[in-house]
Amino acid sequence: MKNVSRPELPKALKRKRARRIILRLLAFFALSAALFAVLYFWGESLFPFGEKHHTARKVFYTALMLLPFFICRVPFKFIDSSWSGTVVRVDVDQGVSSYLEMGQTEPYWKMRVVLTVEKSNGKLIKRTARSFGEIMRYAHIPTPGKIEYHAEEFSVGDKVHKYYLFEYLFVSNLKKADRKRCIECGSTNGLEDKNCWSCGSALIELNGE
Ligand SMILES: [Zn+2]
Repeated sequence: MKNVSRPELPKALKRKRARRIILRLLAFFALSAALFAVLYFWGESLFPFGEKHHTARKVFYTALMLLPFFICRVPFKFIDSSWSGTVVRVDVDQGVSSYLEMGQTEPYWKMRVVLTVEKSNGKLIKRTARSFGEIMRYAHIPTPGKIEYHAEEFSVGDKVHKYYLFEYLFVSNLKKADRKRCIECGSTNGLEDKNCWSCGSALIELNGE
């Protein structure tokens, strides 16, 4: 069990994260207010409990008012869930999946690089570091060697960082660092790049580790 220092988020990403937290809060309050208004103005006609069942109505309304907490996952979604760890294993996984398009299922080859990471608290977790899909209609077999090629971007000992409210993992290894990943869209960028070539988002700077 070793502590891994997490490179700091660039200011632009911190601002983005703050905006996301505020939007989530606003959505929660808007939902709560809307539900409250519906119950206040139309509650009696929507849910005719009758005069005698005053307590039942109260219990029912309270349960309904708890819904926004579940839907918006308050307060859990507001707890900083960032974590860091070290890669202990790199696997490739090729399987079959499908998605729905215009009411038809479209099967595709699903290729994933799966990292087993030992978190700073000693827990082992598996996370997808890269994934690709190839539609079976166009590819009888998954492109040979493709996923193995991308798996080589990762190795045992790499540091892994997950930032709260950002989707993609930041994986770094200073010794062989020649690229860095965008935690917003997952694209690979050059070490010197300040912004992602694909989505324009600010990129994390590697620090000494
Ligand atoms: Zn990006």
